[in-house]
Amino acid sequence: MTSQRTRNRMVERLAAAGVRHSEVLEVMATTPRHLFLDEALSHRAYEDTSLPLGLGQTLSQPWIVARMSELVALAEPQRVLEIGTGSGYQTLILSRLVERVWSVERIAALKARAEQRLARLGATNVYLRHADGGLGWPQAAPFDLILLTACANHLPATLLSQLRDNGVLIAPVEDESGRQWLTRVRRRGQVFDHQRLEEVRFVPLLEGVIR
Ligand code: SAH
Repeated sequence: MTSQRTRNRMVERLAAAGVRHSEVLEVMATTPRHLFLDEALSHRAYEDTSLPLGLGQTLSQPWIVARMSELVALAEPQRVLEIGTGSGYQTLILSRLVERVWSVERIAALKARAEQRLARLGATNVYLRHADGGLGWPQAAPFDLILLTACANHLPATLLSQLRDNGVLIAPVEDESGRQWLTRVRRRGQVFDHQRLEEVRFVPLLEGVIR
């Protein structure tokens, strides 16, 4: 089966599972997820499952990528900061939905691979950095939206301060019992309104960088 056909099936499943945003579905139907995995795993790229990226990290399952992309698209942001580039798959999807994307990854080897893929696929509105994303990207702030693709046990004040007024942050956040919740935070002046959405499962947001 061609990858376009398997991709169409993936998108049909996403729509059946409740993803409504037509632009998100369109972008997922045309983004080659298999190019973001090692060759040995690429035949599984369109299954609804998370897959290993190496170095202990995972490419999130298509459903959660779609769900987060939908939350991003609904906020209609122009400037987006992503924390946790990983394979670069979510980064490429974002780059097709918004004007410009800044993305930070703490593992140098993952950042380097993502950079190659994104360049090969012609993403010119993406800026990558190898750094601790908990510090954000102050030089490019403020952002309309900040997306975390790793789970925080608290939201760093440095990051929240890089949201513009009325900006939105979307992140998996861990509660006291260790359960993870997809959370949407909206900035109103110095007030940050938290809204807990559904339960999710992500790798943890860690401090420091790996060379
Ligand atoms: N969105 C990615 C999923 C990556 S998994 C994809 O589509 O492939 C989460 C990623 O967050 C991992 O690559 C991990 O190394 C990274 N990460 C964890 N803590 C981080 C931090 N403090 N700063 C930047 N990246 C971080």
